[in-house]
Order: sequence, then structure tokens, then C-alpha cells
Amino acid sequence: MITFHILGAGGALPTATHNPAAYLVEMDGAPLVLDPGPGALVRMAQAGLLPDGVDGIGHVLLSHLHPDHSLDLAALLFALHSPLPQSRQPVTISGPRGLQNLLDGLVGIYGSWLEPRRRELVIQELQPGDSLAGPGGGAIAAFAVNHPQDRLSIDCLGYRFTDAGGQVAVYSGDTGPSTELETAAHRADLLVIECSTPDELETPGHLCPREVGRICTAARPARVVLTHQYPPAAAMDLAAAVRNHFDGPVVQARDGLVVTIPPANGDIA
Ligand SMILES: [Zn+2]
Repeated sequence: MITFHILGAGGALPTATHNPAAYLVEMDGAPLVLDPGPGALVRMAQAGLLPDGVDGIGHVLLSHLHPDHSLDLAALLFALHSPLPQSRQPVTISGPRGLQNLLDGLVGIYGSWLEPRRRELVIQELQPGDSLAGPGGGAIAAFAVNHPQDRLSIDCLGYRFTDAGGQVAVYSGDTGPSTELETAAHRADLLVIECSTPDELETPGHLCPREVGRICTAARPARVVLTHQYPPAAAMDLAAAVRNHFDGPVVQARDGLVVTIPPANGDIA
């Protein structure tokens, strides 16, 4: 079973309903923090997802290193420096090549304030095609997506989560049209896909409803959730715009949406 908590359905420009990227993915009951953008930890605590505080965080995964997907790494490491948390379990932070450079840079600024007091930090750099074990079983496979690369973000990745029972959830990260995403999302049980702008504001390296519809028509995921919405996208009926191009179930996320596969009673269609 996979539960996708969408705590930040926006991009770099927060709105009242759509904060920057923040996801918590439970795979077979074990949590993984995905793309901790600004404010992610606070929103996890507000949603009741950190009953043991940061002691409950053991796995963090990043799709790419842009600040709207990664800024709360500093907040998490500073929290782990506090004398209050008691866990002695390692914390694994996984993400694309460049992750170690980002963390070194943060330590260069903040120094020992970012050193966890009791826990070993395990840094894992991933490339397209790599996979890692899920936090509670199953596997997570990385694939390349089409998003601007720079000095810091050498690769930008999407992820295919497969739980122990074979359920599949795919997360696009940030991407423009991408055949790798289309392949990874083929017949997925859930596709959480970025839809940054309306069609008329189409932006390189991102998706608009027309492109999302085309990808979904090719990949045929069982359910689709739209995320990473910039304010003009967040303010419109984005799902209706995608439905002009795709006849499957589509939901426009806002902060707080929870999606479970297999679907739970009362879950979204
Ligand atoms: Zn980005």
C-alpha cells in the first residue's frame, strides 16, 4: 500500500492553498519525506504526520535541488542538531548528483549547526536507472526527466515507487514533456504529475494541461493527480483543462490531499 500526502501542491510562488513542494509518501506503512521545500516540516507537523517529531524521519528523497523542492533540508538538519530528539537511527538523504555539493555548501554557511547530534547521516546520490529499497519494503526507481540543469542540479529525476504488493505510484518531479516519464508512468496505479501553468503560459521545463493530457493518454495511468501549480494554474479548474485531452480520472491537488493505492473508502475517485 502507498499513501501519498500532498502537503505542498504549488511551485516556487506560494498561495494560501498551494505551498511549495512537500510530500510524505508512506510505503507499506513506513514514511519517506519527498521534496522538502520551504515549510515542509511545519506542514507535516500540522497534518499530524510527525507524532515523534523529527525522530520519525529516517528517509528523505529529492527529485532535484531547486530551492522550492529542497530548502527544508537545512531546517531538518538544524532540527536534528537540537539536543531534544532522541533517535539514534541513521537518516538517509537520497537525491540526484549534486546533492553532496548542496549539503557541503549548506554546512559551509551554517557550520556545525547542521550536524545531527545523535544520528548518522547517509547521503546517497542517484542517477537515472538507479533504484533503492522503499522505507517499508518494495523499491523506488529513478528516471530522468526534462527540467533545466545547472551547476547544482546535474540531473533532475522522477521516481517510480513500487510497494511490496506491486502497487505503483509515479512522481514526475519537475519536467517538461518527457518520454522517460511516459514510460515510467505506463499503467501506473497513480501518477502524481506536475502541471505548472495553463496552456497559454506554457513554460520550457514544465508541463501544461495539454501536455499532461497527451502524456496520460499515452501512459494510461489508473489515476492522475496534478501538482506543482503556479498561481495561475492553482486558480483555475486545471483538471477540467486536462480532461479536454485525457478521459481518465484526474484530480487537481491542493495542500492536504491524501491519495492511497489501492484506493481507500472515501478516497478520491
Ligand atoms: Zn525545479
